[in-house]
Amino acid sequence: MIQTNLKEIQSQIPQNVDLVAVTKTHPIESLQEVYNLGVRDFGESKVQELVAKQPQLPSDIRWHMIGHLQRNKIKYIAPFVHLIHSVDSVKVLNEIQKEAKKNERKITILFEIFIAMEAAKFGFTIEEAAAFFDQKQHLQYPNITFGGLMGMATYTDDKDIIKKEFKSLESLFRKIKESHKTELPDFNNLSMGMSSDFPTAIECGSTMVRVGSSIFGARDYSKK
Ligand SMILES: *Cc1c(COP(=O)(O)O)cnc(C)c1O
Repeated sequence: MIQTNLKEIQSQIPQNVDLVAVTKTHPIESLQEVYNLGVRDFGESKVQELVAKQPQLPSDIRWHMIGHLQRNKIKYIAPFVHLIHSVDSVKVLNEIQKEAKKNERKITILFEIFIAMEAAKFGFTIEEAAAFFDQKQHLQYPNITFGGLMGMATYTDDKDIIKKEFKSLESLFRKIKESHKTELPDFNNLSMGMSSDFPTAIECGSTMVRVGSSIFGARDYSKK
């Protein structure tokens, strides 16, 4: 089943868009199965789960942290994480800088931007993110690579709302990228789109989609 689902998703994703397989709540065997099918980018939303799975799987997997990060847990992923999509405050960013330095590495991050209508979602507002770069705050982080932006649209069937939100994120992405070209050479990733809305996200300029349930089936949180 996983193989069929994965092929179907891959057929809908153009060459220049990266697929992150969102593996949260799924067992190691399922992760190994998509690994064997060639997938190398795995996304988890909880530090504890990510850290538990990482040593059980091949070392060439690129681990993506996509969920809200508590500052005291950053140290556990700092030695190996490939990309943190969910940097939603300057406090989190400061802690990543500190842990990256300790590990003598540069960690690539995305700013999570709040674009949805729901009140509960995390992230910088569009204005806050634009101001951060316009004020050149990014120059204060020697161990951080600013890799782009991430966002989640409102969970709705209304495609116009989703499109409007994704387009507002894409426009911010392009603006920051163009205004700070020489300082941000790696600002190339626009992470948007999940199972329910990734084709729309790609239409709106996404370069990276995060797909879970369409590959692995529905998540069963009761087993955890
Ligand atoms: C769980 C999750 C996804 C994947 O969601 P699906 O609907 O299963 O594709 C993508 N992004 C984030 C931030 C998530 O937490």
